[in-house]
Amino acid sequence: MEDSTHVLNERLKRIEPTSKKCSYCFDGKVEKVNDSYFVPIFKEKDRTNIIVYRSVKYAKLDIGIPRCPNCRSIHEASKKKALLFSILAAVAVLAFIVYNFIDFNVIVSVILFFLAGFVGFGGYVYLQNNFSRKAGINTLKEGVENDPLVQDFLMKGWSLTLPSA
Ligand SMILES: [Zn+2]
Repeated sequence: MEDSTHVLNERLKRIEPTSKKCSYCFDGKVEKVNDSYFVPIFKEKDRTNIIVYRSVKYAKLDIGIPRCPNCRSIHEASKKKALLFSILAAVAVLAFIVYNFIDFNVIVSVILFFLAGFVGFGGYVYLQNNFSRKAGINTLKEGVENDPLVQDFLMKGWSLTLPSA
């Protein structure tokens, strides 16, 4: 795992980019490696699959996507704003359920309860991306998807999601 665009940091189990070009905007320059966005990536290995005994061991690494300080602060502000708005929206739906609890039958309450979760979580992801786009930079996910090293790992059987047991 040595190439000219990245170095392996064994202590932190992460791959750090050496590129000075920000992956999230046009002309941003990377100043500190810690400003990079580190995305966890997982490898499934040694999967034993005998009817009653099933185990998945995985290796995990963080891959750094080069990012300038400006994009980092935009991403972090987007995250905070999105979290605030989505919690408020979910609370509003929950308040609506509680307020009308007597009138609704159980099914309706349960559906609305899931809706609150959906509004909260979906709103969080949506707003976070939206705030980044409005600021004119790539979303966290776009930077990950466009990263050649991440693509390499995905081709070699690694995954951006935790393997399920
Ligand atoms: Zn940038």
